[in-house]
Amino acid sequence: LYSSVSNSLFKDVTLPTGRVYKQPTGLFINGQFVPSQTGKTFEVIDPSTEKKIVDVSKAGVEDVDTAVKHAKAAFEKWSQEDPETRARALFKLADLVEENAELLSEIETMDNGKSLMCARGDVALVSKYLRSCGGWADKLFGKVIDTGKDHFAYSRREPLGVCGQIIPWNFPLLMWSWKIGPALATGNAVVLKPAETTPLSALFASSLCAKAGIPAGVVNIVPGSGRVIGERLCTHPDIKKIAFTGSTATGRTIMKNAADTIKKVTLELGGKSPNIVFADANIDKAVKDIAYGIFYNSGEVCCAGSRVYVQDSVYEEVLAKFKEYTETLKVGDPFDQNNFQGAQTSKAQLDKILKFVDIGTKEGGRVVTGGTRVGDKGYFIRPTIFADVKEDMSIVKDEIFGPVVTVSKFSTVDEVIKLANNSQYGLAAGIHTKDISKAIEVSNRVKSGTIWINTYNAFHQSVPFGGFGQSGIGREMGEAALDNYTQVKSVRMAIDRSNL
Ligand code: NAD
Repeated sequence: LYSSVSNSLFKDVTLPTGRVYKQPTGLFINGQFVPSQTGKTFEVIDPSTEKKIVDVSKAGVEDVDTAVKHAKAAFEKWSQEDPETRARALFKLADLVEENAELLSEIETMDNGKSLMCARGDVALVSKYLRSCGGWADKLFGKVIDTGKDHFAYSRREPLGVCGQIIPWNFPLLMWSWKIGPALATGNAVVLKPAETTPLSALFASSLCAKAGIPAGVVNIVPGSGRVIGERLCTHPDIKKIAFTGSTATGRTIMKNAADTIKKVTLELGGKSPNIVFADANIDKAVKDIAYGIFYNSGEVCCAGSRVYVQDSVYEEVLAKFKEYTETLKVGDPFDQNNFQGAQTSKAQLDKILKFVDIGTKEGGRVVTGGTRVGDKGYFIRPTIFADVKEDMSIVKDEIFGPVVTVSKFSTVDEVIKLANNSQYGLAAGIHTKDISKAIEVSNRVKSGTIWINTYNAFHQSVPFGGFGQSGIGREMGEAALDNYTQVKSVRMAIDRSNL
């Protein structure tokens, strides 16, 4: 792949597995890795060792403007390509991700701190999703609309233009695919900003674009500060749409900044998702599901099932089994496959989580297990369960974004629905029961964009994902994602019968 590249922006990096690879460290603009115009860089840290991995070029406003200029030019051609050409490119990109799956998983684990098991799951979904997007490229249908015999009317779906995309650090490569996949399938060009802490996998994967047949300028990657270049993406007059995944607070700022140029905005924001265990559930399985619901990916999941509600007759049993099971989950070196949970992604996140544990304890919550840092090198924390919590405590209301869960009791269906809906968020919910009628009734009445019944965090590339309430606007994955990247044009033509 790199035989023709002797560029100083490619650094030899040795992964903890001993594998050596070339990491692109420049900005990816118009198909080339380039330094930032100011020459500025920033350090990328391995959160498991706290050691620097590489320095990556730090884009400034002028680099964003250059990227947008190239994306705009590339869009003119890309949007006119046959749908089959766009489909083939996405299929090929999916194949290349698959060919590099183990390397990409290792990069992700080193950069984010997540366990290798999680990273492998992410990368598998990346290739499935890119392939799925390729499949949609030649299935963009309009409608023929009957407006009477004197006219012929139809609608067609057209791409938007250059899309600005801003992604977080919890699923760096998966979010790259959720953003570029539907945008490219529908004929748009993108300028994407990865999170400051985790730019490596998106840079590496974007280097595969040319080999996949995606023309230069269609995908541009600009690592840098959210406040500076994230804001420029939101205000740039030639960017037609902003797609963002991250915190609800930043989502609000993004909407405000995008307002002057009336950009289309889709937001995938935070959550405080309820996970409900009824007394008639398969308790041993439900316990594993609620643990997976909160501790998967070190709890750094927007839809994490962070509020567990257990029916009173099985509350003590579930709490005891949940504690016992959680204490079997090993924390440590994410490359060691005996460890379920790796490092939190940054010192800031670790500190934030520990602060919540402290606040929760002061508010009167009881730590059933966990609550402490593991070791003093690397950002590791034990999976943590709080019981004896009240609805107005901040650990029950606020998104912690770490492996911390609260467990409360309920007695009736009506009561638990009220508790589940007692949140500004509405991203996901879990329901554990063997009673099919109860499962449907509760899933209809809980206000969230996704419901998982007798499972949790069960993503699929064909199933839309997104939030109710302050958890977001728009849906990713499935056919719904195409709506975010197309606009409807209506055509109505008069039928002239005078010469017939
Ligand atoms: P964030 O929302 O600030 O960052 C996400 C992305 O937005 C990053 O790429 C960042 O650079 C960018 N950004 C930041 N400020 C911006 C601005 N003003 N304009 C445009 N882009 C901007 O999240 P964070 O500070 O990294 O983490 C804080 C909290 O956000 C976490 O503790 C967690 O609660 C939440 N979070 C949620 C998700 C999610 O998937 N819903 C993901 C990451 C973080």
